[in-house]
Amino acid sequence: MNKIEKQLNKLLEGFKPEDQKSIRSAFEFSQKAHEGQMRKSGDPYITHPLETALILKKLHLEASTVAAALLHDVSEDTSTTMEDIKNEFGEEIAYLVEAMTKVSEVRLKGSFDPNYIENLRKMFIAAAQDLRVVLIRLADRLHNMRTIEYMDKEKQKSYAKETLEIFSPLANRLGIGEIKGELQDLAFPHVYPEEYESLTKKINIAHKARQKYVKKAMKTIEKLVKKNDVEIIDIHGRAKHLYSLYKKMQKLQTENLSRITDLMAIRIITPTTTDCYNILGLIHENFKPLPGNIKDYISVPKPNGYQSLHTTVFGPEGTVLEVQIRTPEMHEYAEHGVAAHWAYTEAGKPKKGFIPSKKFKWVQQLRDLQKELGSDPQEFINSLRLDLFQHRIFCFTPKGDVIDLPVGATPVDFAYAVHTDLGNHCIGAKVNNKMTKINTELNSGDVVEIRTSKKPAKISRDWLQFVKTSKARERVKKRLKGD
Ligand code: MN
Repeated sequence: MNKIEKQLNKLLEGFKPEDQKSIRSAFEFSQKAHEGQMRKSGDPYITHPLETALILKKLHLEASTVAAALLHDVSEDTSTTMEDIKNEFGEEIAYLVEAMTKVSEVRLKGSFDPNYIENLRKMFIAAAQDLRVVLIRLADRLHNMRTIEYMDKEKQKSYAKETLEIFSPLANRLGIGEIKGELQDLAFPHVYPEEYESLTKKINIAHKARQKYVKKAMKTIEKLVKKNDVEIIDIHGRAKHLYSLYKKMQKLQTENLSRITDLMAIRIITPTTTDCYNILGLIHENFKPLPGNIKDYISVPKPNGYQSLHTTVFGPEGTVLEVQIRTPEMHEYAEHGVAAHWAYTEAGKPKKGFIPSKKFKWVQQLRDLQKELGSDPQEFINSLRLDLFQHRIFCFTPKGDVIDLPVGATPVDFAYAVHTDLGNHCIGAKVNNKMTKINTELNSGDVVEIRTSKKPAKISRDWLQFVKTSKARERVKKRLKGD
């Protein structure tokens, strides 16, 4: 059996016979349409849609999404028309493929480009109409990133940068931790080659010793929990993603790995929420927690729906160790995000303890909004403030870079988000080419140009009233103190 057949069998595995039939025919249709085309790697083109479909299968998505993924490049790159796809596969799959084609590649340009914002918006709209389209787009990007080594050298960096600026934040908003982490780690060496290399060197030192310690700590904790009659479904060490480690060290302004308290982490999966809190209690009874490091994302989930308990303790032998505790449903959501929603509801039986209504409030809002607005795209664009990035807005620098901010953020937050110096010298702002006050609330899609003075700008205590990001707040406080 050749590799393509093997992958196809993997893709079909576990689907109902009628679904297998439609997935197989989508595969055959796509293979025929792409016949003779090659990837830069030298592989037949069909490997790309096939791998894209496999990524979606791993997220447990249903058959029509998987079939649409197989067909996603057919109408763009071959003589096949949308009509052909509709005749062959029906409305739903044709709709997904067409939406994929319409959500044209979002490209970061070196200079300000109005199409760029428009493309980004199209992506949001596509997300609103059917999030499965965005999931296919993410899987497509992930496979392209996995094969980035074959891309032209000069393209690699901008492609990877775009991945970091658009696609990994998107995966994060949708709660798909697995894809977010992989996208970032694949892009990291291309966007920041030197930083990547120096961090890799650092992390390799004492890597074995850390692994050994985590193993030992897991045994100790497992024993402790079992002795107290609390069930553990799974316990594993979690390796911190390299890019997220890099970001954290930047945030803490340190080069010293020992300042990272979650470098070593253990993850415990346990049946119920009560078990989670019980285990947390047991751990705190036996290991001294680091003050200020207990995070209860179960009662207060992250904006993207992530739930878990996190604590950092002086573990066995007094070594600092992070422990994450969650139920299987929370774990599934942490890895697969909104995709978990489809996986469960399509199967027709949401799992015990899995409450989509709360986590997916924004998904529901979007659907309601879409129903209300019908099919008028202009009205939809106008109401994008209710979009899926409920708690976040995206603004742009004059060069077209995306700055991701919380709702209510002002030009001062924007300036500090770009660079501390820019914040410190900010005396005013132009928003969409109009002069505005520095405390104006920004909206998604705004192009923000910060006006600066040569000397650090005068600031006042009032600034603390309107800034929204912790970075801006910290900096303003620091400057008010006079340093
Ligand atoms: Mn593609």
